[in-house]
Parts: sequence; structure tokens; C-alpha cells
Amino acid sequence: MTMNSTGRPTTPSGGETMSDIQTVSGSRGLMQHEDLIFETGCTNKTGVDLPAPKGLKNRLGGVARKRSTELPGLSEPETMRHYVRLSQKNYAIDLGLFPLGSCTMKHNPRLNEKVARMPGFADIHPLQPQYTVQGALELIDQLAGWLKKLTGMPAVAMSPKAGAHGEFCGMMAIRRAIIARGEIETRTRVLVPASAHGTNPATAVQCGFKVDEIKADKRGRVDMEDFKAKLETSDDIAGIMLTNPNTCGLFETDIREIAELIHQAGGYFYCDGANFNAIMGRVRPGDLGIDAMHINLHKTFSTPHGGGGPGAGPTVLSDALADYAPVPFVIHDEDGYKLVEEAEGEGEEAFGRLCAFHGQMGMFTRALTYMLSHGADGLKQAAEDAVLNANYIQARMKTVMTPAFDGYCMHEALFSDAFTADNVGTLDISKALIDEGYHPMTMYFPLVVHGAMLIEPTETESRAELDRFCDSLEAIAERAKAGDESLKGAPYLAPMRRLDETQAARKPVLRWYKPEPEKIAAE
Ligand SMILES: *Cc1c(COP(=O)(O)O)cnc(C)c1O
Repeated sequence: MTMNSTGRPTTPSGGETMSDIQTVSGSRGLMQHEDLIFETGCTNKTGVDLPAPKGLKNRLGGVARKRSTELPGLSEPETMRHYVRLSQKNYAIDLGLFPLGSCTMKHNPRLNEKVARMPGFADIHPLQPQYTVQGALELIDQLAGWLKKLTGMPAVAMSPKAGAHGEFCGMMAIRRAIIARGEIETRTRVLVPASAHGTNPATAVQCGFKVDEIKADKRGRVDMEDFKAKLETSDDIAGIMLTNPNTCGLFETDIREIAELIHQAGGYFYCDGANFNAIMGRVRPGDLGIDAMHINLHKTFSTPHGGGGPGAGPTVLSDALADYAPVPFVIHDEDGYKLVEEAEGEGEEAFGRLCAFHGQMGMFTRALTYMLSHGADGLKQAAEDAVLNANYIQARMKTVMTPAFDGYCMHEALFSDAFTADNVGTLDISKALIDEGYHPMTMYFPLVVHGAMLIEPTETESRAELDRFCDSLEAIAERAKAGDESLKGAPYLAPMRRLDETQAARKPVLRWYKPEPEKIAAE
């Protein structure tokens, strides 16, 4: 039997491993087994029992449903348990350190939630008369003001609803500018570094451009020789999409030269601002020659990442692109705040409309609350602490793991799998982290690093939490170095063990079918 530092046994005394233990209920300790709601709640039960309405005439004209809706019938306590049990199978930033690189899994301050629930922000409708929602419009305008100030850019489009949507917004503005120059037939090539997030090339293609990949150099930055070579024939250059700090967690030190050269070539500079958390308050993208950049409010400004949405990806624009911002947008005159809804008048040059309404009001409220409660100095400190925490992890882990590049990192630490024995790798390390109670880090991204492990600890983690995580990771890394075969079976303690990840991603089973009675009888 082995014990941890507080004297608790870490393997059962009987000699069996924890994964061998089968329970009758299917639960593991206090982690409750839970079936699908369709399997739990019989359709012939109901949580509410209303008397049949009297004196109501059926007006369905013979099209009344003849079969049961097959909806599960659960009482309130049963429903509660079902969802609480499911929620406990989820990992969350409120539960522990969330090292997912590139995602900036920030703590969402409860003050944000309180403000977002105020009726003047939460209970309004986007089609309400504008004079009844002046406060909400003012909030959008104030947030826009802060975003412009922090980035040093003259304009911002608030409606994009995610980072990728913001990329689309920025690239559509660039496209519109090229159309205005009469060069859309020829300027079709967009340069994208090999380390880019997949959404960058996808956006360029979606906007009708061709992608030309730039190599990374040995320092994990844009290979300037390769970049310059690609500009030799520049008549067809529409622009570049570059992430800074980049997805290797490194600051692109040649960024000003890159901006100058792309502008000389007649192209525009799109910056992927997903990693703005590392530089806010310290660097203004406007000073670097950037023409368009999205900001993920759900990363940098602490609004929740809600299982794929809603996010918010406001996109700041330079003078060259400002007029092409999509409608609607908020303007302010002596009569108050007003929405420009149509591509005419003030919105005449707009490239169009990205979505039905004005963006994610709930995210705007949370982001502005975060900004105002931190102040300029607090935001700067958040960026500095994010960088400090990542470097702490890099410094502690480099005794066992292989950092992908030399030198200090920005807000995330990147390792390759060079240190592992041949029989185990990145996937096994990630799975073993689940047994230790952590969501795995980002793995196999960026593609320029073999077996990449990208770890972003976020700024609110204390030194004690960082150490607790590093202790777990260090022990796993030592086992990986020694080629410990047992890593290949991890996770041992999760409700599900190793899944066929390819099948799960490509052929997900998203629909439940009621088992046929004869099949049940035969089994
Ligand atoms: C998160 C991220 C995106 C996309 O943002 P979404 O809000 O998920 O659409 C784009 N680029 C980088 C570098 C990112 O980290």
C-alpha cells in the first residue's frame, strides 16, 4: 500500500488496482453512475399531476397526436439529481486548474454574473424601441470604448459572436476594402503561418481567398526569409493572418517589420487576438501596424466559455477598414444612443450584416464588469500574472519535459514529446492527467511541434495550485520517460476509459433510439 503526503492510502490494501473494482451500482465512490434521461424516466410517469381540464373543446380538427410523445417523466427531485449527476462528470474552472492551452480558461468572477442578471440588461429584447434600452446601448458603447483604448484602434465591430466569427468579420472588411480598390480579381492570396489556429486558414478560404502557408523558424516564430520570399510577387497578396502572441506561446518579435512589408506589398494585416490576455495593458496592437483583430471576450475578459457558445468576438479595425464595419452598430449624438441598422447613411460602406441583432449582450455586460472592476492597472497585472504563471510551469517542468523552444514563454508553456520513451506519448500523458483530477492540456497543437503539449495556467492560479498541478504532471512525465506501459490504459478512474477518439469525433452517436421490445426479450 502506498500513501500520499497526508497519509491516505493511494491504492487499496487488498492489492487490486482501483480500475479492477466493480461496484453493483456502477458508481465510483461518490461519483454517481447515471443513465441517459430516456433510460431513467419512464414515459408513463409524470412529475406534475394536473386534473384533466373541464369544458375545453378539442379544436385540433382531427390532427391530435395519437402516440405518446415518449418524453421521459421525472419528478422534480429526480430531474434535479439527473442533471446534478451529469454536471459532476464535467470538468470546470470552478473545480480546478484548467490547463487547456490557447483557450484562456479564466475564472469568471461572480460579480460579472450578478451584473449580467440585472433586469435592465438581462430582460430586454433586441426589438424593443431604442429609447427604452438606452442603458444597454450605452453599455455596448462603453465596452467598445475600452476595447478601442486597450488596442489603440479607432473602430470596433461588436456583433461577432465568437473568435472565428470575428476573424470572418475582419477578413470580410479586408475583402470589402480590396473590392473598393478594384483589385478583388487579383488580390487573392492570404499568408498564414504554419502554427496558426485552424480557424485562420478556414476563414481565409470562407472569404474566397487562397491560403499560402509560411514556415516557422527554429525560434517558433514566422520564418522571415520564407515570408519575404512569398512577397516577391506581391500583386496577388490580400494580406496576412498572424497570431500574436502566437500559438507557440511566443511573442512575434518581428511583428512591426511584418506589418511594414505586408503594407508595402499592398496587403492588410489581420491579427488573431485570441491571446490578447498575455499583452493587454502592455502592448497596443494599433501601434504594431495591425488592420483588424478579434478579441475573444470569453478568453481575455473572463466571460464563460459555454460549451461552444455563446462567446463574443468584437473585432477592432484600423482607419483603413473602419468604414466597412458591419451593421448594426451604436452611435451617440445629442439625442442619446442610436443603432445604425441599415447599410445606408452612416452605414453606407458596411460590408453587410453578420447576425440578426447586436451581439451577445450577456457577454458584453460581463466583460465590461470585469474591466471596470480591474481598472487599467488590474488588467495589466492580469496579463503579467498570466505570463508569470506560464513561465513558472515551464521552469518547473523543464527538468523532466522538453520545452519546444528556448527562452521565456508568454502566457502558455509548450512542450514536445521528445522526452517520452517510444512506447508512450502525449495522448497517454493527457489521459493520465484525468486520473489525477485535471482536464488535459491542449495536445497535438500547434502542428509545428511534435506531440505538442500546450499548457496555459491562467493568471488567477496561486503558486500552491500551480505546484499541485506540476507535482501530478511531473510524476506522469517521469513515468512517460521510463516508458511505463500502464500509462497506455489511463484513465483508470474516469466513468469512461479510452474511447475510440476518431470514431467519437467523426461518427458521434447523437440520437437515442428506444430499444425494440423483442431485442430486449432475446438478450
Ligand atoms: C480560441 C481561438 C480562436 C477561435 O475562437 P472561438 O471563440 O473559439 O471561435 C482562434 N484563434 C486562436 C489562436 C484561438 O485560441
